[in-house]
Amino acid sequence: MTLVSSGAFSSFSRISRAIASRVTQSSPAGGAIQKRTRDSSDSSVRNGNVERSRATAATKVDDFTAWALRTVILARLLDCDFVTTALEHPWTTPPVPGTTLSVAPGVRWVRMPLPFALDHINLWLLRDGKGWTAVDCGIAADATRVHWEQIFRDVVGNTGLTRVLVTHFHPDHFGNAGWLTQRFDAPLWMSESEYLNAHAQYQTQAGFGSDATARLFAEHGLDLERVAAIKGRGNSYRKIVSEPPTRFVRMMDGDKIDIGGNNWRVIVGWGHAPEHAALYCESLGVLISGDMLLPRISTNISVMASTPHADPLGLFLDSIDGFRALPADTLVLPSHGRPFRGLHARVDQLHAHHAERCEVLIAACAGTPKHAAELISVLFNRDIPDPHQTMFAMGEAIAHLNYLEHSGKMQRIEENGLVRFIS
Ligand SMILES: [Zn+2]
Repeated sequence: MTLVSSGAFSSFSRISRAIASRVTQSSPAGGAIQKRTRDSSDSSVRNGNVERSRATAATKVDDFTAWALRTVILARLLDCDFVTTALEHPWTTPPVPGTTLSVAPGVRWVRMPLPFALDHINLWLLRDGKGWTAVDCGIAADATRVHWEQIFRDVVGNTGLTRVLVTHFHPDHFGNAGWLTQRFDAPLWMSESEYLNAHAQYQTQAGFGSDATARLFAEHGLDLERVAAIKGRGNSYRKIVSEPPTRFVRMMDGDKIDIGGNNWRVIVGWGHAPEHAALYCESLGVLISGDMLLPRISTNISVMASTPHADPLGLFLDSIDGFRALPADTLVLPSHGRPFRGLHARVDQLHAHHAERCEVLIAACAGTPKHAAELISVLFNRDIPDPHQTMFAMGEAIAHLNYLEHSGKMQRIEENGLVRFIS
């Protein structure tokens, strides 16, 4: 919360209290829930120094990719306890890395470390005949592979992985895809856009890479110093991603995949990644949500350099509305945080959160055009000089501005190579 503007925070708290009060009316334990919500919101402000020092430590990990760093900031930004109030978490403790935890028949929870302030990712193993399907891979780092080796010994055994299914191309999900598919001679299953984006990012082609990102941010008003710093980062993706496979099985929205006798339906979503694949199994009542639905932090939504006019926030909000069609008691298995029930409430919370941020931006741009770089301090209540954090902040700011332009609430003004927005 320390980076959120105070105005946003107070409005956010109002929403928090409103939701908590609704819970109070409907739950016998509501009083306790309401109090806990207020207390935790307050304490997240008091603990600002702790939060800040964690973020600072994270930014020292220079060699790692922007996505993970964006997620770090995101954890700081959106770590609002009120959002968890309406959610039920069946498990309080995650599995120790290198071990697994059964969360549904034939479904095991795997947790892998990440060297960031957001220090973990959840992967899933699905029983698949005599073998296992892995869902997501962790980053290509020794620390992750040591834990995989233990799981191979203790759980996967000789039959090995039957396939490696990846929700999207981001490095914490895709990093070990090449390593795992080679090791078990297993096919990679992925949507086509994600597969191609992984290759483009790995090869710095097709408008991907730090040069293209630096150019986009310069157009949106970022100062020369930070533009140069972003440009100088080079290809951080391939530092934590093993060489991508050159064959794959294409997954498409609505596909039904038989995994060990269970039918898993592919639900494609947009906004966080180009063709993110979530998986839903009706008979088990389980949704593997990937990064599309997280219980505690909000998914990063950024405009990418190759699609400067895109509206990823609009796409994301539309996509998560699709989850409303699933039963309310669906067990959601997210990539970060703990499994939870309450996906309808979570979708509502995410809508409320982004609406709040948009309000702040509209007020800031009333009558005076502003560019994304100068709106960072409006959104986050301070400037963000660190180039890595700037990657996230700029991407999110542009995503919100593009969304407001697409929805007719702001106007884009392009003059002398600079993009500004006015409401
Ligand atoms: Zn992601």
